[in-house]
Amino acid sequence: MTTHICKSISSMREFGDAWRAEKLRIGFVPTMGALHAGHAELLKRARAECDKVVCSIFVNPTQFGPKEDFALYPRTWEADQALCVELGVDAIFAPDAREIYRPNDCTHVEVAELSDQLCGVFRKGHFRGVTTVVYKLFAIVEPDVAYFGEKDFQQLVIIERMVKDLYLAVRIVPVPTVREADGLALSSRNRYLSAAERAQAAKIGKALSMTKYLVQGEMAADDLLEYVFIELRDANITQIDYIALVDSHTLRPTKDPHGARLCVAAYVGTTRLIDNVGFP
Ligand code: AMP
Repeated sequence: MTTHICKSISSMREFGDAWRAEKLRIGFVPTMGALHAGHAELLKRARAECDKVVCSIFVNPTQFGPKEDFALYPRTWEADQALCVELGVDAIFAPDAREIYRPNDCTHVEVAELSDQLCGVFRKGHFRGVTTVVYKLFAIVEPDVAYFGEKDFQQLVIIERMVKDLYLAVRIVPVPTVREADGLALSSRNRYLSAAERAQAAKIGKALSMTKYLVQGEMAADDLLEYVFIELRDANITQIDYIALVDSHTLRPTKDPHGARLCVAAYVGTTRLIDNVGFP
């Protein structure tokens, strides 16, 4: 089998149209490239559950703030392509930014309220960039199913809401976070970490995994947050955007851990990392 490379919207549409004509189910995994085992997990799920698999690789400029790492964001095209071939991806959609955003574009997709919580407070306009590009990608690929990682929990909730509110004909499948052996959630941004920072960063995942037991022991919400704060502080992670226990649907703060999500965003050195854990 062949992994087709589609750089243009028209070539991506040609494949999609042909597959739909054959009544084949299209699974879609949108990414920004620099693929790792987390992305691979999404692609494997798509491969197992769908007839055709599309992976988009697009470092979306509109979801980066002016002082963020768009220019520095890792781009590893050769390795990404090799992984897609290995995993049996049918098409890689890798458009140029000018293909996705035309100069006189004036339409945006914004999921109100959910986009203003958590990371939305610190990354103004970030989720508007995400929802706009994901909507465009859905319109181009027209997938039956799309896979999103729980690693970016707020993004997942926002996309699910966009699909619901706009009656989009795509099913969103959440995929649990893939972690390193020491608990660090895989992220393309982990490449920025020095060896010492890498060790610090692992403490975030460790602290979050411990909270599962604390919730089983009925620890109160404020104490849970305090526990994570102290663990991060002990690892010398002091620049913390938030440590929050939120309702899994509204993303609003809650005092009841059951069914809720504990979300963290913090800097390790200059690298901003996010992670989260859910409780039954
Ligand atoms: P990104 O390339 O960072 O935009 O991520 C593309 C997709 O992969 C998103 O749905 C992410 O949530 C998902 N993803 C990233 N890291 C992980 C991970 N460690 N485990 C599971 N999914 C992930």
